Amino acid sequence: MATVVGLLAQLQVHPVLRYLTLDGITTFVRLITHLKRDIIQPQPVDESNPTTAPTVLPEPLTLFIGNALGIPADTMDDFWSILKDYAWEMPTVPLMQDDYDLFKQWGWRCGLTAVSIYPPDDGCPNLSCDNQIPLKKEYRKKAVVYTRSAGVQPAWNTSLYCPSKYHLYNNKPKAP
Ligand SMILES: [Zn+2]
Repeated sequence: MATVVGLLAQLQVHPVLRYLTLDGITTFVRLITHLKRDIIQPQPVDESNPTTAPTVLPEPLTLFIGNALGIPADTMDDFWSILKDYAWEMPTVPLMQDDYDLFKQWGWRCGLTAVSIYPPDDGCPNLSCDNQIPLKKEYRKKAVVYTRSAGVQPAWNTSLYCPSKYHLYNNKPKAP
């Protein structure tokens, strides 16, 4: 597990990230715990283990986090590299009103919403299917979610498709 001392030591020697505030780090952690599926879904299969932070942060996430926290774009790779393991291990933290505002200001334009809807598992639900790797064929549509704490929120509703079933379906012999 990443230790806070180790994390701070790495930040301290970085010419830009040494000026990060504690508020910035905790905001980052809150945001990331709500964005894990958005981070994993675009990754290659061998980077899609939900218990391990992927090496590279997808471009929309880099833009959103960079703008939301005021981190220069050319520093975001270092930022992710230093903080990813620490943030990934944290339990999901409830968002604050300021976080919803950050999504509205910087996230929506990157296709990221505070509320996102995914199937519970990223694998094929058909247990007899020969395709047992994370599904990467997806379809997204816009949704509106009514929340108790944050009012009406836009959301992306993501469906996943199994290519094995898809191909099977398309390769079915035509009836004579
Ligand atoms: Zn399948």
